[in-house]
Amino acid sequence: MAMSMQAQLTVFKYLVTQKLKGVEKYPLVMMLEPLFACNLECAGCGKIQYPTDILRKRMTPQEVFDAVEECGAPIVSIAGGEPLIHPEIQQIVDGLIARKKPVYLCTNAILLEKNIHKFKPSPYLIFSIHLDGVEKTHDRMVCQQGVYKTAISAIKLAKKLGFCVMTNSTIFQGEDVQEFREFFDQNMAMGLDGMMISPGYAYEKAPEQQLFLKQEQSKAWFKEALKDWRTKGWAFNHSPFYMDFLEGKRTYDCTPWGNPLRNVFGWQRPCYLMNEGGYAKTYGELLETTDWSKYGHKSGNPKCLNCMTHCGFEPTSVADSFSSISSFFEMVADFASIKAPKKVSLSYDRTGTYEEVLAKAEGKVPAETKH
Ligand code: SF4
Ligand code: SF4
Repeated sequence: MAMSMQAQLTVFKYLVTQKLKGVEKYPLVMMLEPLFACNLECAGCGKIQYPTDILRKRMTPQEVFDAVEECGAPIVSIAGGEPLIHPEIQQIVDGLIARKKPVYLCTNAILLEKNIHKFKPSPYLIFSIHLDGVEKTHDRMVCQQGVYKTAISAIKLAKKLGFCVMTNSTIFQGEDVQEFREFFDQNMAMGLDGMMISPGYAYEKAPEQQLFLKQEQSKAWFKEALKDWRTKGWAFNHSPFYMDFLEGKRTYDCTPWGNPLRNVFGWQRPCYLMNEGGYAKTYGELLETTDWSKYGHKSGNPKCLNCMTHCGFEPTSVADSFSSISSFFEMVADFASIKAPKKVSLSYDRTGTYEEVLAKAEGKVPAETKH
């Protein structure tokens, strides 16, 4: 786990409290989609196929804060659509940080350099950059040439400015294992703070359905790609138990209420990935009025059969590590056994204040937009 110590402590305290209180169903990461509009049309995306009037909708900062407070999840992941298109993204992020919520700002990074002056490095802010592999693979998956280079340039600027930066990668059918192992090495060589990976979910609305892996294909792919990850110095921002699950070494069912989704319509039922049964007005209503037995691998629901995504199964792996003292110590020992990433001697110039480094990014950030 590569979040800051403050953020890790926030999450740890929350999990211990849930355990001590005997809470059976609790949220871990609140997924927030304050808009659906995006500046890309990726082949595997199930989020942007809405009519124009829906794509124009935005959640207000107050709607976001009300939802975050009612839900109570210790982490908020802002996705979309492309959150940097939201005109009030700065107020939303600032408001969440003020509430001491670790925030993942998930972005395809096309607008990051132009907008980075709106944010300040914080132990509670993580830029989560959509990067689906090496240059040729990423540009193919996002259906646009040049996006990889833009993302890498933005990552380097964000690192120069002292931000916590991670990548978020989705694995699709036919991806080359060796290429991804090199991709993980490249990411760590850039001094990234962490990496997130997940097989894609076969969204009904995604234009290219043949892209998605079946459950056994996912396990085989990750078993090969991750065979020695604990010794490679790859900083995956996942519970090691979830990594085991991806490799087929642990069997879990999902926790669909663990990473609940609030978007412009309300709380999506039943989970971040699937919309079946409409929207609830509150997280409480979502919990109480959803028939959870209809979802997950054991349910036999065909829409769940091949799902192994981190938003569905990471909450289960985290709950597992807190399920008993022995599991907890197993998780601690596992974390301790993971080889730390190599200290990267970054070629970025980190000298100077935030404002000075920002000013040095000549031609990328207009002077008048400085924080
Ligand atoms: S960048 Fe994200 S939200 Fe935009 S089209 Fe691609 S996957 Fe969808
Ligand atoms: S398996 Fe769980 S997380 Fe995945 S689609 Fe089904 S309900 Fe959602």
